[in-house]
Amino acid sequence: MKVMKFGGTSVGSAERIKNVAELVTKRGKNIIVLSAMAGTTNTLVEISDYLYKKNIDGAKETINALEKKYYETIMELFEDEGQREAARSEIKACFNYVRSFTKDLFTVFEEKEILAQGELMSTAMMNIYLRSIGVKSVLLPALDYMRTDKNGEPDGQYIRQKLSALLDKYADADMYITQGYICRNAYGEIDNLQRGGSDYSASLVGAAINAEEIEIWTDIDGMHNNDPRFVDGTDPVDELHFEEAAELAYFGAKILHPTCVLPAKLNNIPVRLLNTMCPSAKGTLIHNATGAHKIKAVAAKDNITAIKIKSGRMLLAYGFLRKVFEIFETHKTPIDMIATSEVGVSVTIDSEKNLDNILDDLKKFGTVTVDHDMVIICVVGDLEWQNRGFEAAALDALKELPVRMISYGGSNYNISFLVRKSDKVKALNLLSDRLFKNKK
Ligand code: ADP
Ligand code: ASP
Ligand code: MG
Repeated sequence: MKVMKFGGTSVGSAERIKNVAELVTKRGKNIIVLSAMAGTTNTLVEISDYLYKKNIDGAKETINALEKKYYETIMELFEDEGQREAARSEIKACFNYVRSFTKDLFTVFEEKEILAQGELMSTAMMNIYLRSIGVKSVLLPALDYMRTDKNGEPDGQYIRQKLSALLDKYADADMYITQGYICRNAYGEIDNLQRGGSDYSASLVGAAINAEEIEIWTDIDGMHNNDPRFVDGTDPVDELHFEEAAELAYFGAKILHPTCVLPAKLNNIPVRLLNTMCPSAKGTLIHNATGAHKIKAVAAKDNITAIKIKSGRMLLAYGFLRKVFEIFETHKTPIDMIATSEVGVSVTIDSEKNLDNILDDLKKFGTVTVDHDMVIICVVGDLEWQNRGFEAAALDALKELPVRMISYGGSNYNISFLVRKSDKVKALNLLSDRLFKNKK
């Protein structure tokens, strides 16, 4: 059995829902993981913001407008009045639930319950639609099996047990539909796997059932060799190693959520990135092997802050770096890039939430300088140190731009450059021209 995950755009209208239904019925008995319809989770976040601010009119207006869109989708999706009514009553229950929060205290717990409605609605509609075209589909409620533990990590054993019990119970189904993104936490409260987390759900489900493959269906024909939002003429990459995919996802290739790779990698389950709008396209296969001697792709991660600590005390001293890193640990802030010299160290972080406290503590160890609004440009491929010329080519591509930091040798798959936000698009394009365009 495979896991097939469809993102928001893939289920973003009645027509798309019909397309997905046709696509999945041709592919046999699988588990279908769905995101909310495109735009829904953002609107639910907007509704929650109104509720936090006690702007009840704003919340009600936004709820009504979103609800109307769903009823329009239902009218287009179903011809039979009975099926329309069945779908409307499911959707109405979700919106009435959201509306119930306009009366009471509103906290992060209520917000999570609101955010869960998007996936509950898309899966309910898909299930009713599949049944209306004669497919014996069964809804597997993610809130009954997807759970995180006290550290907020997925509870693998629980997920496996609950999911396999559900699959046994509905063994004669034609296919299974389930929600991405949503889960319960260790206390049984409704929670989620962070924005964009439906990819993670698919991977966790895949790992739990030891799936033959995890397919991530989206609006583009696989992982491209550069960010198509900023570079023209990008091309899909045929295959990536798990490590390469993880680097690209973490460093900004939005097509894949960074958390999605690990469960698949640990269980050695191939992940395939496919295009709902063009199902015949080859897409990208992510697995445990890769073409050697190739630079595969470039990605960019925004909102990076660079911090430099310069200290005479670092010279010939041991324990200095530990003390520096401990400060970041104390303030629960992960470090992305590191570059060191004998008298100083530069690190990057992607959240300024605890920056002031970090800087206060770092100042005890030396002179500290900060550069805001930076971007990590990450070049991914077979960058094993014995291969010659790849680092030079990447660096040569960027020779016109000021580069704040370079990191190479941390893995066999990545070289990263830190540049100014204002140079990001130029850097991505220069790398594309130098690394990919002349190779065609
Ligand atoms: P979904 O809603 O299906 O999860 P996403 O919007 O999360 O889809 O991811 C798909 C989008 O990722 C594409 O439309 C594309 O704009 C963007 N993207 C960014 N970098 C890349 C890349 N390297 N390759 C392919 N798509 C990318
Ligand atoms: N619907 C959620 C979001 O928009 C999860 C997802 O689409 O992956 O973030
Ligand atoms: Mg996504």
